[in-house]
Amino acid sequence: MPHPEKSADVVIIGAGPSGAVAGTLLKRKGYKVTILEKQTFPRFSIGESLLPQCMEFVEQAGMLEAVQAEPAFQFKNGAAFRFANDYSFFDFREKFSPGHGTTFQVQRATFDKILADSAAKQGVSIHYRHEIRTIENSDDSVTVHGVDGDGKDFAVTARFLLDASGFGRVLPRLLDLEAPSGFPVRQSLFTHVIDNIDCQQFDREKILITVHPQHRDVWYWLIPFANNKCSLGVVAKEAFFDQYRHLESEERLKALVAEDEHLSRLLANAEYPDPVNEIHGYSANVTSLVGPGYALLGNAGEFLDPVFSSGVTIAMKSASMAADVLDRHLQGKAVDWQAEYAEPLKHGVDVFRTFVEAWYDGRFQDVIFYQNGSEQIRAMISSILAGYAWDLNNPFVKQAERRLNTIVEICRG
Ligand SMILES: Cc1cc2nc3c(=O)[nH]c(=O)nc-3n(C[C@H](O)[C@H](O)[C@H](O)COP(=O)(O)OP(=O)(O)OC[C@H]3O[C@@H](n4cnc5c(N)ncnc54)[C@H](O)[C@@H]3O)c2cc1C
Repeated sequence: MPHPEKSADVVIIGAGPSGAVAGTLLKRKGYKVTILEKQTFPRFSIGESLLPQCMEFVEQAGMLEAVQAEPAFQFKNGAAFRFANDYSFFDFREKFSPGHGTTFQVQRATFDKILADSAAKQGVSIHYRHEIRTIENSDDSVTVHGVDGDGKDFAVTARFLLDASGFGRVLPRLLDLEAPSGFPVRQSLFTHVIDNIDCQQFDREKILITVHPQHRDVWYWLIPFANNKCSLGVVAKEAFFDQYRHLESEERLKALVAEDEHLSRLLANAEYPDPVNEIHGYSANVTSLVGPGYALLGNAGEFLDPVFSSGVTIAMKSASMAADVLDRHLQGKAVDWQAEYAEPLKHGVDVFRTFVEAWYDGRFQDVIFYQNGSEQIRAMISSILAGYAWDLNNPFVKQAERRLNTIVEICRG
Protein backbone atom coordinates (compact mmCIF):
# COMPACT_ATOMS: atom_id res chain seq x y z
CA MET A 1 0.00 0.00 0.00
CA PRO A 2 1.63 3.30 -1.05
CA HIS A 3 2.19 5.70 1.84
CA PRO A 4 1.01 9.31 1.50
CA GLU A 5 3.70 11.89 0.89
CA LYS A 6 5.17 13.12 4.16
CA SER A 7 4.01 16.72 3.75
CA ALA A 8 1.11 18.77 2.38
CA ASP A 9 -0.35 22.24 2.78
CA VAL A 10 -3.52 20.81 4.25
CA VAL A 11 -4.22 17.38 5.68
CA ILE A 12 -7.84 16.27 6.11
CA ILE A 13 -9.10 13.39 8.24
CA GLY A 14 -12.00 11.64 6.46
CA ALA A 15 -13.24 11.57 2.86
CA GLY A 16 -16.99 11.99 3.58
CA PRO A 17 -18.92 15.00 2.17
CA SER A 18 -17.16 17.61 4.32
CA GLY A 19 -13.68 16.23 3.66
CA ALA A 20 -14.17 15.73 -0.09
CA VAL A 21 -15.70 19.19 -0.62
CA ALA A 22 -13.16 21.05 1.57
CA GLY A 23 -10.26 19.19 -0.05
CA THR A 24 -11.47 19.98 -3.56
CA LEU A 25 -12.14 23.66 -2.87
CA LEU A 26 -8.62 24.04 -1.43
CA LYS A 27 -7.05 22.12 -4.29
CA ARG A 28 -8.86 24.46 -6.70
CA LYS A 29 -7.23 27.36 -4.87
CA GLY A 30 -3.81 25.82 -5.58
CA TYR A 31 -2.97 23.99 -2.33
CA LYS A 32 -1.52 20.52 -1.94
CA VAL A 33 -4.18 18.53 -0.09
CA THR A 34 -3.96 15.05 1.41
CA ILE A 35 -7.05 13.23 2.70
CA LEU A 36 -6.59 10.23 4.99
CA GLU A 37 -9.63 7.97 5.17
CA LYS A 38 -9.80 4.91 7.38
CA GLN A 39 -12.31 2.95 5.30
CA THR A 40 -12.45 1.96 1.61
CA PHE A 41 -15.15 3.50 -0.56
CA PRO A 42 -17.93 2.70 -1.31
CA ARG A 43 -18.97 2.30 2.32
CA PHE A 44 -22.39 2.62 3.93
CA SER A 45 -23.31 5.89 5.61
CA ILE A 46 -26.59 7.11 7.03
CA GLY A 47 -27.90 10.51 5.83
CA GLU A 48 -29.58 9.99 2.50
CA SER A 49 -31.96 12.89 2.01
CA LEU A 50 -30.11 16.00 0.87
CA LEU A 51 -31.24 19.62 1.05
CA PRO A 52 -31.12 21.99 -1.96
CA GLN A 53 -28.68 24.35 -0.19
CA CYS A 54 -25.96 21.69 -0.33
CA MET A 55 -26.09 21.65 -4.15
CA GLU A 56 -24.43 25.07 -4.06
CA PHE A 57 -21.33 23.51 -2.47
CA VAL A 58 -21.44 20.45 -4.74
CA GLU A 59 -21.47 22.92 -7.63
CA GLN A 60 -18.63 25.06 -6.17
CA ALA A 61 -16.52 21.90 -5.95
CA GLY A 62 -17.20 21.04 -9.63
CA MET A 63 -19.12 17.87 -8.71
CA LEU A 64 -22.65 18.77 -9.79
CA GLU A 65 -22.64 17.02 -13.18
CA ALA A 66 -21.29 13.80 -11.69
CA VAL A 67 -24.05 13.81 -9.03
CA GLN A 68 -26.79 14.66 -11.55
CA ALA A 69 -25.65 11.81 -13.83
CA GLU A 70 -26.22 9.05 -11.25
CA PRO A 71 -29.46 7.22 -12.20
CA ALA A 72 -30.03 5.66 -8.76
CA PHE A 73 -30.45 9.08 -7.14
CA GLN A 74 -34.02 10.28 -6.73
CA PHE A 75 -34.84 13.85 -7.75
CA LYS A 76 -36.16 15.66 -4.65
CA ASN A 77 -38.18 18.89 -4.55
CA GLY A 78 -39.53 19.03 -1.03
CA ALA A 79 -40.57 17.47 2.25
CA ALA A 80 -43.95 15.98 3.20
CA PHE A 81 -45.27 15.50 6.73
CA ARG A 82 -48.03 13.29 8.05
CA PHE A 83 -49.62 13.07 11.50
CA ALA A 84 -52.65 10.75 11.65
CA ASN A 85 -55.01 12.25 9.04
CA ASP A 86 -53.13 15.54 8.72
CA TYR A 87 -50.88 15.89 5.69
CA SER A 88 -48.74 18.86 4.70
CA PHE A 89 -45.92 19.39 2.27
CA PHE A 90 -43.37 22.05 1.38
CA ASP A 91 -42.17 22.49 -2.19
CA PHE A 92 -38.63 23.83 -1.95
CA ARG A 93 -38.94 25.54 -5.33
CA GLU A 94 -41.37 27.94 -3.61
CA LYS A 95 -38.87 29.03 -1.00
CA PHE A 96 -37.98 32.54 0.11
CA SER A 97 -34.16 32.40 -0.34
CA PRO A 98 -32.47 32.42 -3.74
CA GLY A 99 -30.51 29.35 -4.82
CA HIS A 100 -31.09 25.71 -5.77
CA GLY A 101 -34.65 24.57 -5.09
CA THR A 102 -34.20 20.86 -5.77
CA THR A 103 -31.76 18.14 -4.84
CA PHE A 104 -31.57 14.34 -4.54
CA GLN A 105 -32.23 11.42 -2.26
CA VAL A 106 -29.06 9.39 -2.47
CA GLN A 107 -27.55 6.09 -1.46
CA ARG A 108 -24.65 7.54 0.51
CA ALA A 109 -22.23 4.75 -0.41
CA THR A 110 -22.55 5.84 -4.06
CA PHE A 111 -22.85 9.57 -3.35
CA ASP A 112 -19.78 9.77 -1.11
CA LYS A 113 -17.75 7.75 -3.64
CA ILE A 114 -18.78 10.11 -6.45
CA LEU A 115 -17.62 13.10 -4.40
CA ALA A 116 -14.35 11.46 -3.33
CA ASP A 117 -13.58 10.24 -6.88
CA SER A 118 -14.25 13.72 -8.20
CA ALA A 119 -11.92 15.19 -5.54
CA ALA A 120 -9.21 12.71 -6.57
CA LYS A 121 -9.75 13.52 -10.26
CA GLN A 122 -9.21 17.19 -9.46
CA GLY A 123 -5.87 16.42 -7.82
CA VAL A 124 -6.64 15.78 -4.15
CA SER A 125 -4.47 12.95 -2.85
CA ILE A 126 -6.79 10.48 -1.07
CA HIS A 127 -5.43 7.51 0.88
CA TYR A 128 -7.97 4.90 1.92
CA ARG A 129 -7.40 2.44 4.78
CA HIS A 130 -5.33 5.10 6.55
CA GLU A 131 -6.61 5.65 10.06
CA ILE A 132 -5.43 8.61 12.12
CA ARG A 133 -4.60 7.73 15.71
CA THR A 134 -2.72 10.71 17.17
CA ILE A 135 -1.80 14.29 16.29
CA GLU A 136 0.73 16.94 17.30
CA ASN A 137 -0.39 20.50 16.63
CA SER A 138 1.00 24.00 16.90
CA ASP A 139 0.08 27.35 15.31
CA ASP A 140 2.33 26.74 12.26
CA SER A 141 2.15 23.01 11.60
CA VAL A 142 0.36 19.80 12.44
CA THR A 143 1.55 16.21 12.21
CA VAL A 144 -0.94 13.36 12.10
CA HIS A 145 0.12 9.81 12.87
CA GLY A 146 -1.76 6.73 11.88
CA VAL A 147 -1.78 3.11 10.85
CA ASP A 148 -2.59 1.85 7.36
CA GLY A 149 -4.59 -1.22 6.36
CA ASP A 150 -1.41 -3.35 6.37
CA GLY A 151 -0.67 -2.34 9.95
CA LYS A 152 2.19 0.00 9.00
CA ASP A 153 2.68 3.35 10.74
CA PHE A 154 2.67 6.56 8.72
CA ALA A 155 2.85 10.31 9.45
CA VAL A 156 1.94 13.42 7.45
CA THR A 157 2.94 16.98 8.37
CA ALA A 158 0.93 19.91 7.05
CA ARG A 159 0.48 23.60 7.61
CA PHE A 160 -3.13 23.03 8.72
CA LEU A 161 -5.44 20.17 9.70
CA LEU A 162 -9.15 19.85 8.97
CA ASP A 163 -10.96 17.19 10.95
CA ALA A 164 -13.75 15.82 8.75
CA SER A 165 -13.95 12.48 10.55
CA GLY A 166 -17.72 12.66 11.14
CA PHE A 167 -18.96 10.36 13.91
CA GLY A 168 -15.31 9.20 14.25
CA ARG A 169 -14.80 12.58 16.04
CA VAL A 170 -11.02 12.26 15.98
CA LEU A 171 -9.97 15.67 17.34
CA PRO A 172 -12.82 15.98 19.87
CA ARG A 173 -11.57 12.71 21.38
CA LEU A 174 -7.83 13.34 21.10
CA LEU A 175 -7.91 16.97 22.25
CA ASP A 176 -10.65 16.53 24.83
CA LEU A 177 -13.06 18.86 23.03
CA GLU A 178 -16.21 16.77 23.55
CA ALA A 179 -19.20 18.67 24.95
CA PRO A 180 -22.68 17.31 25.62
CA SER A 181 -25.40 17.97 23.07
CA GLY A 182 -28.42 19.74 24.53
CA PHE A 183 -30.67 16.97 23.14
CA PRO A 184 -31.75 13.83 24.98
CA VAL A 185 -30.18 10.56 23.83
CA ARG A 186 -32.18 9.31 20.89
CA GLN A 187 -31.90 6.17 18.84
CA SER A 188 -32.71 5.27 15.29
CA LEU A 189 -33.62 1.95 13.70
CA PHE A 190 -33.35 1.85 9.91
CA THR A 191 -32.94 -0.16 6.73
CA HIS A 192 -33.55 -0.08 2.97
CA VAL A 193 -36.76 -1.75 1.80
CA ILE A 194 -38.00 -2.74 -1.64
CA ASP A 195 -41.07 -0.60 -1.14
CA ASN A 196 -43.51 -1.93 -3.81
CA ILE A 197 -45.62 1.18 -3.15
CA ASP A 198 -48.55 1.27 -5.57
CA CYS A 199 -50.34 4.29 -4.07
CA GLN A 200 -50.71 6.85 -6.89
CA GLN A 201 -50.70 9.79 -4.45
CA PHE A 202 -47.35 8.85 -2.93
CA ASP A 203 -44.86 11.53 -3.95
CA ARG A 204 -41.44 9.96 -4.53
CA GLU A 205 -39.92 13.41 -5.02
CA LYS A 206 -40.26 14.27 -1.34
CA ILE A 207 -39.02 12.77 1.90
CA LEU A 208 -42.03 11.67 3.96
CA ILE A 209 -41.81 12.36 7.70
CA THR A 210 -44.55 10.62 9.68
CA VAL A 211 -45.28 11.55 13.29
CA HIS A 212 -46.20 8.57 15.48
CA PRO A 213 -49.99 8.74 16.11
CA GLN A 214 -49.65 8.53 19.92
CA HIS A 215 -46.16 9.88 20.62
CA ARG A 216 -45.43 13.19 18.95
CA ASP A 217 -41.69 12.98 19.66
CA VAL A 218 -41.42 9.69 17.77
CA TRP A 219 -41.19 9.90 14.00
CA TYR A 220 -40.44 7.85 10.89
CA TRP A 221 -38.58 8.75 7.72
CA LEU A 222 -39.36 7.30 4.30
CA ILE A 223 -36.82 8.39 1.70
CA PRO A 224 -37.59 7.07 -1.79
CA PHE A 225 -34.74 6.23 -4.16
CA ALA A 226 -35.02 5.87 -7.92
CA ASN A 227 -34.83 2.05 -7.89
CA ASN A 228 -38.11 0.98 -6.23
CA LYS A 229 -36.35 1.12 -2.88
CA CYS A 230 -36.81 3.43 0.08
CA SER A 231 -34.75 4.17 3.13
CA LEU A 232 -37.01 3.59 6.13
CA GLY A 233 -36.19 4.61 9.70
CA VAL A 234 -37.73 5.46 13.02
CA VAL A 235 -36.37 7.83 15.66
CA ALA A 236 -37.28 7.93 19.36
CA LYS A 237 -35.71 8.38 22.78
CA GLU A 238 -33.72 5.30 23.75
CA ALA A 239 -36.12 4.37 26.53
CA PHE A 240 -39.03 4.21 24.06
CA PHE A 241 -37.45 1.20 22.35
CA ASP A 242 -37.31 -0.80 25.61
CA GLN A 243 -40.83 -2.14 25.12
CA TYR A 244 -39.71 -3.79 21.86
CA ARG A 245 -36.48 -5.32 23.22
CA HIS A 246 -37.87 -8.87 22.97
CA LEU A 247 -38.11 -8.47 19.18
CA GLU A 248 -35.32 -8.88 16.64
CA SER A 249 -34.41 -5.62 14.86
CA GLU A 250 -36.46 -6.33 11.72
CA GLU A 251 -39.55 -7.34 13.71
CA ARG A 252 -39.10 -4.28 15.91
CA LEU A 253 -39.07 -1.96 12.91
CA LYS A 254 -42.09 -3.73 11.39
CA ALA A 255 -43.97 -3.49 14.71
CA LEU A 256 -43.31 0.24 14.84
CA VAL A 257 -44.44 0.74 11.24
CA ALA A 258 -47.61 -1.21 12.04
CA GLU A 259 -48.48 1.38 14.71
CA ASP A 260 -49.12 4.02 12.06
CA GLU A 261 -52.10 3.28 9.85
CA HIS A 262 -50.99 5.32 6.82
CA LEU A 263 -47.39 4.18 6.83
CA SER A 264 -48.31 0.53 7.24
CA ARG A 265 -50.79 0.81 4.37
CA LEU A 266 -48.12 2.43 2.21
CA LEU A 267 -45.59 -0.29 3.05
CA ALA A 268 -48.07 -3.20 3.01
CA ASN A 269 -46.12 -5.02 0.27
CA ALA A 270 -42.63 -3.93 1.28
CA GLU A 271 -39.81 -6.47 1.33
CA TYR A 272 -36.95 -6.23 3.81
CA PRO A 273 -33.91 -7.74 2.03
CA ASP A 274 -31.30 -5.81 4.04
CA PRO A 275 -30.38 -6.00 7.72
CA VAL A 276 -32.04 -3.50 10.05
CA ASN A 277 -29.39 -1.36 11.76
CA GLU A 278 -29.51 0.91 14.74
CA ILE A 279 -27.55 3.95 15.85
CA HIS A 280 -27.68 5.53 19.31
CA GLY A 281 -26.68 8.80 20.92
CA TYR A 282 -25.54 10.50 17.73
CA SER A 283 -26.17 14.10 18.88
CA ALA A 284 -22.83 15.62 19.87
CA ASN A 285 -21.13 18.96 20.40
CA VAL A 286 -17.67 20.38 21.08
CA THR A 287 -16.22 23.08 23.29
CA SER A 288 -14.55 24.73 20.28
CA LEU A 289 -14.59 24.29 16.49
CA VAL A 290 -11.11 25.78 16.05
CA GLY A 291 -7.70 25.69 17.73
CA PRO A 292 -3.99 26.01 16.94
CA GLY A 293 -3.46 24.65 13.43
CA TYR A 294 -6.86 22.97 13.08
CA ALA A 295 -10.59 23.38 12.47
CA LEU A 296 -13.45 20.90 12.78
CA LEU A 297 -15.89 20.32 9.93
CA GLY A 298 -19.34 18.69 9.72
CA ASN A 299 -20.17 16.01 12.25
CA ALA A 300 -16.70 16.13 13.76
CA GLY A 301 -17.92 19.41 15.24
CA GLU A 302 -21.60 19.29 16.05
CA PHE A 303 -24.44 16.98 15.07
CA LEU A 304 -27.95 18.01 16.05
CA ASP A 305 -30.60 15.58 14.92
CA PRO A 306 -31.72 13.83 11.72
CA VAL A 307 -35.26 15.26 11.57
CA PHE A 308 -34.69 18.00 8.97
CA SER A 309 -31.95 16.19 7.01
CA SER A 310 -29.54 19.03 7.73
CA GLY A 311 -26.37 16.96 8.37
CA VAL A 312 -24.79 16.88 4.90
CA THR A 313 -25.74 20.51 4.26
CA ILE A 314 -24.08 21.67 7.51
CA ALA A 315 -21.06 19.46 6.67
CA MET A 316 -20.66 21.05 3.23
CA LYS A 317 -21.37 24.56 4.45
CA SER A 318 -18.61 24.15 7.05
CA ALA A 319 -16.28 22.84 4.32
CA SER A 320 -16.96 25.82 2.07
CA MET A 321 -16.57 28.38 4.87
CA ALA A 322 -13.40 26.76 6.24
CA ALA A 323 -11.84 26.62 2.75
CA ASP A 324 -12.31 30.39 2.33
CA VAL A 325 -10.85 31.27 5.73
CA LEU A 326 -8.02 28.76 5.35
CA ASP A 327 -7.08 30.21 1.97
CA ARG A 328 -6.48 33.59 3.57
CA HIS A 329 -4.74 31.98 6.57
CA LEU A 330 -2.33 30.10 4.27
CA GLN A 331 -1.60 33.30 2.37
CA GLY A 332 -0.34 34.71 5.67
CA LYS A 333 -3.25 37.12 6.10
CA ALA A 334 -4.61 37.80 9.59
CA VAL A 335 -7.72 35.73 10.16
CA ASP A 336 -9.90 35.30 13.19
CA TRP A 337 -11.12 31.70 12.95
CA GLN A 338 -13.62 32.17 15.76
CA ALA A 339 -15.25 35.27 14.25
CA GLU A 340 -14.96 34.28 10.58
CA TYR A 341 -15.68 30.55 10.78
CA ALA A 342 -16.97 29.20 14.09
CA GLU A 343 -19.51 31.93 14.92
CA PRO A 344 -21.17 32.38 11.51
CA LEU A 345 -21.31 28.60 11.03
CA LYS A 346 -22.90 28.23 14.46
CA HIS A 347 -25.50 30.87 13.66
CA GLY A 348 -27.03 28.65 10.96
CA VAL A 349 -26.67 25.52 13.07
CA ASP A 350 -28.51 27.32 15.87
CA VAL A 351 -31.35 28.13 13.47
CA PHE A 352 -31.74 24.41 12.80
CA ARG A 353 -31.46 23.79 16.57
CA THR A 354 -34.40 26.14 17.21
CA PHE A 355 -36.56 24.24 14.71
CA VAL A 356 -35.43 20.82 15.95
CA GLU A 357 -36.31 21.72 19.56
CA ALA A 358 -39.65 23.08 18.40
CA TRP A 359 -40.26 19.88 16.41
CA TYR A 360 -39.85 17.66 19.46
CA ASP A 361 -41.90 19.85 21.82
CA GLY A 362 -44.69 20.03 19.22
CA ARG A 363 -44.58 23.78 18.41
CA PHE A 364 -43.16 23.39 14.92
CA GLN A 365 -45.44 20.44 14.18
CA ASP A 366 -48.40 22.73 14.85
CA VAL A 367 -46.99 25.21 12.33
CA ILE A 368 -46.32 22.52 9.72
CA PHE A 369 -49.84 21.11 9.89
CA TYR A 370 -51.58 24.50 10.02
CA GLN A 371 -53.49 24.81 6.78
CA ASN A 372 -54.33 28.53 6.62
CA GLY A 373 -50.82 30.01 6.80
CA SER A 374 -49.76 32.83 4.51
CA GLU A 375 -47.83 31.91 1.37
CA GLN A 376 -45.01 34.24 2.33
CA ILE A 377 -44.51 32.66 5.75
CA ARG A 378 -44.63 29.19 4.23
CA ALA A 379 -41.94 30.27 1.75
CA MET A 380 -39.73 31.44 4.62
CA ILE A 381 -40.20 28.16 6.46
CA SER A 382 -39.63 26.27 3.24
CA SER A 383 -36.26 28.04 2.96
CA ILE A 384 -35.18 26.71 6.34
CA LEU A 385 -36.35 23.20 5.44
CA ALA A 386 -34.40 23.53 2.17
CA GLY A 387 -31.25 24.26 4.20
CA TYR A 388 -30.95 28.04 3.76
CA ALA A 389 -30.30 28.59 7.45
CA TRP A 390 -27.60 31.22 6.88
CA ASP A 391 -29.73 33.61 4.78
CA LEU A 392 -30.06 36.59 7.12
CA ASN A 393 -32.65 38.16 4.82
CA ASN A 394 -35.05 35.52 6.06
CA PRO A 395 -36.66 36.76 9.31
CA PHE A 396 -36.90 33.13 10.47
CA VAL A 397 -33.09 32.96 10.22
CA LYS A 398 -32.40 36.33 11.74
CA GLN A 399 -34.65 35.86 14.77
CA ALA A 400 -35.52 32.20 14.65
CA GLU A 401 -36.94 31.65 18.14
CA ARG A 402 -38.94 34.89 18.26
CA ARG A 403 -40.42 34.53 14.78
CA LEU A 404 -41.23 30.90 15.32
CA ASN A 405 -43.02 31.57 18.61
CA THR A 406 -45.10 34.33 17.00
CA ILE A 407 -46.25 31.94 14.30
CA VAL A 408 -46.90 29.19 16.82
CA GLU A 409 -49.24 31.53 18.70
CA ILE A 410 -51.14 32.30 15.50
CA CYS A 411 -51.39 28.62 14.51
CA ARG A 412 -52.56 27.64 17.99
CA GLY A 413 -55.23 30.34 17.84
C1 LIG B 1 -30.15 8.52 12.01
C2 LIG B 1 -29.50 9.59 11.16
C3 LIG B 1 -30.12 10.00 9.98
C4 LIG B 1 -29.53 11.00 9.20
N1 LIG B 1 -30.19 11.43 8.08
C5 LIG B 1 -29.66 12.45 7.36
C6 LIG B 1 -30.31 12.90 6.17
O1 LIG B 1 -31.35 12.41 5.77
N2 LIG B 1 -29.71 13.92 5.48
C7 LIG B 1 -28.53 14.49 5.89
O2 LIG B 1 -28.05 15.43 5.24
N3 LIG B 1 -27.89 14.05 6.98
C8 LIG B 1 -28.41 13.04 7.72
N4 LIG B 1 -27.74 12.57 8.80
C9 LIG B 1 -26.45 13.17 9.14
C10 LIG B 1 -25.33 12.71 8.21
O3 LIG B 1 -25.16 11.33 8.34
C11 LIG B 1 -24.02 13.42 8.58
O4 LIG B 1 -24.30 14.73 9.00
C12 LIG B 1 -23.01 13.51 7.44
O5 LIG B 1 -22.67 12.23 6.98
C13 LIG B 1 -21.75 14.23 7.95
O6 LIG B 1 -20.76 14.27 6.96
P1 LIG B 1 -19.24 14.38 7.39
O7 LIG B 1 -18.47 14.61 6.15
O8 LIG B 1 -19.09 15.33 8.51
O9 LIG B 1 -18.87 12.96 8.03
P2 LIG B 1 -19.00 11.44 7.46
O10 LIG B 1 -19.91 11.39 6.31
O11 LIG B 1 -19.35 10.60 8.65
O12 LIG B 1 -17.53 11.10 7.00
C14 LIG B 1 -16.48 10.93 7.92
C15 LIG B 1 -15.40 10.05 7.33
O13 LIG B 1 -14.27 10.06 8.22
C16 LIG B 1 -13.72 8.76 8.29
N5 LIG B 1 -12.98 8.62 9.54
C17 LIG B 1 -13.50 8.52 10.79
N6 LIG B 1 -12.49 8.36 11.70
C18 LIG B 1 -11.33 8.38 10.99
C19 LIG B 1 -9.95 8.24 11.36
N7 LIG B 1 -9.58 8.04 12.64
N8 LIG B 1 -9.00 8.31 10.39
C20 LIG B 1 -9.36 8.48 9.10
N9 LIG B 1 -10.66 8.58 8.68
C21 LIG B 1 -11.63 8.54 9.63
C22 LIG B 1 -14.95 7.85 8.22
O14 LIG B 1 -14.58 6.55 7.78
C23 LIG B 1 -15.84 8.58 7.22
O15 LIG B 1 -15.68 8.13 5.90
C24 LIG B 1 -28.30 11.58 9.60
C25 LIG B 1 -27.67 11.14 10.77
C26 LIG B 1 -28.26 10.17 11.56
C27 LIG B 1 -27.58 9.73 12.81
